[in-house]
Amino acid sequence: MNGSMFFTICSFFYCVLLMVIYFSKQRLQLFENKIYVMMMLTNFLVLAIETSTIFLGNNALIIKIFLLLLLLWIIELTLYVYVISNSKEDKKYNRSLKIAGLIYILIAILVICLPLEFENKTGSQYAYGASVSTIFIVSGLCICCCLFFLFRDFKNIKNKKYYPVYVFLGIGALALVVQAINPSLLLASSLETFVTFFMYFTIENPDLKMIEQLNIARDQAEKANQAKSEFLSNMSHEIRTPLNAIVGFSQALAEEEIPDSAKEEVRDIMMASENLLELVNGILDISKIEANKLEIVNTEYKVQDVFDDLIVLTKARIGEKPLEFRTSIDPSIPPYLYGDYMRLKQIVLNFLTNSVKYTKEGYVELKVSSVKKDDICRLIISVEDSGIGIAKDKIDKLFTKFERFDLDKNITIEGTGLGLAITKRLVELMGGKIVVQSVYGKGSKFTVAIDQRIILNPTKIEEKKEQELPQTFDASGMKILIVDDNQINLKVASRLLKDYKADITTASSGMECVELLKTKQFDLIFMDDMMPRMSGVETLEQLKKDSDFSTPVIALTANAISGMREKYIQSGFQDYLSKPIDRKELSRVIAKYRKEEQKQEEEMETL
Ligand code: ADP
Repeated sequence: MNGSMFFTICSFFYCVLLMVIYFSKQRLQLFENKIYVMMMLTNFLVLAIETSTIFLGNNALIIKIFLLLLLLWIIELTLYVYVISNSKEDKKYNRSLKIAGLIYILIAILVICLPLEFENKTGSQYAYGASVSTIFIVSGLCICCCLFFLFRDFKNIKNKKYYPVYVFLGIGALALVVQAINPSLLLASSLETFVTFFMYFTIENPDLKMIEQLNIARDQAEKANQAKSEFLSNMSHEIRTPLNAIVGFSQALAEEEIPDSAKEEVRDIMMASENLLELVNGILDISKIEANKLEIVNTEYKVQDVFDDLIVLTKARIGEKPLEFRTSIDPSIPPYLYGDYMRLKQIVLNFLTNSVKYTKEGYVELKVSSVKKDDICRLIISVEDSGIGIAKDKIDKLFTKFERFDLDKNITIEGTGLGLAITKRLVELMGGKIVVQSVYGKGSKFTVAIDQRIILNPTKIEEKKEQELPQTFDASGMKILIVDDNQINLKVASRLLKDYKADITTASSGMECVELLKTKQFDLIFMDDMMPRMSGVETLEQLKKDSDFSTPVIALTANAISGMREKYIQSGFQDYLSKPIDRKELSRVIAKYRKEEQKQEEEMETL
């Protein structure tokens, strides 16, 4: 037995082994995988025929079958390369399969009909003649076609990491030349086996393919999720604009002299729009979280202010409900901390709102304690209630978005099922933990632990003004400019500002604002940010080019996310108001920028 025969027998056994491994693995059923299976089987047959000639000897029939199988493998390889290089969305290859089949049949007929001759040289027998030459020519053409496919869709090949195919084709072309020069070398079957084996190890291993497909599926899912988040975020922004009109006008109407029955309806409109606003904010938060765009904005804050606000808000939510609101805030908590207090407030407020919502009578208790280590203070905040409680099997699903339980019992309770999903992700983003304890029918306790840095010498904290501002006050003489491209928004803002008796001017674009300021002076400007052509930020930049410009400018935006205030202040705005405009916030801003003389006048009057 000479060397090449020994190699053929080894290849045959190795091929069988490879097939056993390949077929024993779970694998994908893509079109290219099916072609690879066919290539493996054809290679097996080629090796089987070649091995059989060792024992049975050569004859024309066997050589012709051998040539036909060789041809089949080459056509399969070409089809394989065509499929992997195809970047088109339409992956139906039935037509390609039919064309490849037809080409094979035509060439096969040619190979069968053309003559074949044998040559005995240095002990080894090899075939030549027109039939063999046809295979050579077809192989060369197939390699050219493959290279054409590969270069045509190079990007697709690069993305899918099919580089080894180039190597195989290069080796194939080289072997073809060598075989043409020296026909007695019999390289064909060895080369074919080599390519089939190495395709397995480099690109066709089912495990590798599976991982690759999983990665593709994951990327696609991520892209789809991002598109969805962007859509939700745009949508909630769009909803805010009409909502601004509803909230603004109903707020203004409620303050007017209208019949009692209409007052109640206006109150209902306000309540419904507040719920809608909550929902829109929730969707905005969820979409930001899912797109990994929600940032935690850490600042120094006064702990007392956070809990005072929470207590005021909870008392307002309890209203007339027969609920006792207990609070216990550990006095040893450091007075100043560093963290995202807006988000902290959002987290605790969500627990408190839920407790008020899902408790008919009894109590709601807010408990805050702390554990300190070095400069870190772990805030442990719990909200307990004597409400309806949550069934044990539901606790796991509590933090899944849009999950709401006992809907038959809670039919009258407004909710979205987003609150706790957002809360959990916020707590995770802040590096904290949530624990839920609940007894169905008896009550629930939500505890959250979040680490915050202790601030010993607070620098940037504005002391809160103790006195409460009245709903509206007289700011007559104050010249206010409102800039917004949306006419309804202009109307809403004008209507809300009318109550302060200010002198109001409107501009519906950044350009108009810049023009107006050339001839007129204002005490305060409210500027929408998202305007076509010239945004609020760009308009402000333009205004600031004039060195005499010193009017305070307040940003108005429907993008109500934390971090916005800091962003606008960095861009040169004095403050920020989110839409729908909150009456209290509006009063705060107007009071702050009222002319100093006017304030002094008022103080004199009160003396
Ligand atoms: P929402 O309150 O808007 O429905 P959440 O995500 O805040 O959405 O809460 C999800 C669900 O968990 C609620 O619908 C309610 O069934 C249940 N739940 C939350 N907090 C409590 C609580 N304190 N007591 C009883 N059930 C609660």
